[in-house]
Amino acid sequence: MEQDQDGSGGSGAERSAVLERLQKAGGLSPGAARSVAFETGVPEAEVYGTGSFYSLLARPDTKVRVCNGLSCRLAGADELLGSTQRAGLPVETCSCLAACDAAPAALRDRALLPRLTQSDVESCGGDWTRLTSSAATASAPTYCPGPVFDLAGEPDPSAPAFQKAIEIGPDAVIGELEASGLQGRGGAGFPAHRKWRAVRTQLDPTRYVVLNADEGEPGTFKDRDLLLRRHDLVLEGLAIAAFVVGAEDVYLYLRGEFETPGRLLEEVLAQAEGRFPGIRFHVHYGHGSYVCGEETALLEALEGKRGMPRHRPPYPVERGLWGRPTLMHNVETIAAVSAIVLRGGAWFRGLGRSEPGSKLYSVSGHVERPGNYELPMGVSLDELVEAAGGYVGELKAFSPGGASSGFLPASERTRPLDFRSLAEVGCMLGSAGVVVLNQSVDMRAAALTQLRFFEAESCGQCAPCRIGTHYLREALERHGSTGDSPDALAHTAEVAWQLNEGSICGLGQTAALPLTSALKYFPREFRA
Ligand code: SF4
Repeated sequence: MEQDQDGSGGSGAERSAVLERLQKAGGLSPGAARSVAFETGVPEAEVYGTGSFYSLLARPDTKVRVCNGLSCRLAGADELLGSTQRAGLPVETCSCLAACDAAPAALRDRALLPRLTQSDVESCGGDWTRLTSSAATASAPTYCPGPVFDLAGEPDPSAPAFQKAIEIGPDAVIGELEASGLQGRGGAGFPAHRKWRAVRTQLDPTRYVVLNADEGEPGTFKDRDLLLRRHDLVLEGLAIAAFVVGAEDVYLYLRGEFETPGRLLEEVLAQAEGRFPGIRFHVHYGHGSYVCGEETALLEALEGKRGMPRHRPPYPVERGLWGRPTLMHNVETIAAVSAIVLRGGAWFRGLGRSEPGSKLYSVSGHVERPGNYELPMGVSLDELVEAAGGYVGELKAFSPGGASSGFLPASERTRPLDFRSLAEVGCMLGSAGVVVLNQSVDMRAAALTQLRFFEAESCGQCAPCRIGTHYLREALERHGSTGDSPDALAHTAEVAWQLNEGSICGLGQTAALPLTSALKYFPREFRA
């Protein structure tokens, strides 16, 4: 792996280094912003303003973070938080850690502690550096084989698809992608071949490929498993993409909490020297911000700035990283490329039921075996949960695509889990992070968990999102408090409309869905 470089020259490189330098300085501890400003030439106020955007840098004294995602809360995260506080650990809550299959999860510095128990907390003796998860190794997940990603299989370093891509050439690769019908698996569902063709045909000869591994949608944890278990497919897909669009530099942006997959990738890249001639890989880590999963916010973060989404157009395929044409894909999308090149687009398309291809579904909550399951695109919730060992208790509701998708009632259990069928009921597949809720769940409380998440993660750039997420969370709390006003939720539909119409990015556009869908399908739970 070569050292990081910047396509825009000196000042851009210094700017890009701000976040890494702040991390090395231990976050925004006293004096850190000043010394990073001195090293980089970036004004101190700007260094501080940038660092304060990212939760892992902004509060350096916090060493333990307990996930308060919905699946972790169902598994006892609130009680776990109470134990850590009583033990005197420097703790706070955090947004989803992409470990919903190992709930409740926590973070020690940047290391994930899956299935953390109260007895783990007690045995560390109040010393956060000794906090470890004893249950993590006791119940390692099992992986099911699958035709495209095969999480149960072994990494293959021989890169046969890359060789074949060189043999058949860029246009034929794009042709196979088009035939496959592959849509972006990060949530947007945009046809992959159109992005590839758009970048390849730009006049600017400097192009980039970026991997979006900033997986943060509550309920989703498939990218983490792909990076850990099938990094060969991820790297090969990136190399093919770089070859096809004519890029020499590939940037892998991993969320800051993906320390273990990231270190593994760095090792694999060091061993892969020369496997992909003419292509340089650069690994970057995020610093704690959900909205950086939005592609233009991620580009801002890569450039060393606050991760605020950009207005579009221009789209990244025209002007992306440092203003250059950029092809960006989610981990699952890029990992599917190898199989498509090797076995053909028609083969991949035929794997799907209602839409093309197979899909990695993450399922957690009230199911017997939470985990990632590769199944035909368009299976129903019942089929997915059958693969996951069955329901725990009686199904009441589910979120088919993370917090952003809102809730559906049990009566939708046979609806195909695909882009089109879920859109028909005002819902969405998103990144297919399915959270299952049984009859014990209070839907008002579930909606409140999601609203808190959106309020905490709004970047604050758009007034409707900044104010609307705060308003809805407060209104729902007011509604549920003793002696509440029954009219507290009277403006929900209006605020939801404002959020949808006036927000730049998907966070604001979907932030009201958990509440509006819960009100629609479970109105009795909102009556006094
Ligand atoms: Fe930021 Fe919200 Fe606007 Fe997205 S919608 S850019 S998160 S303020």
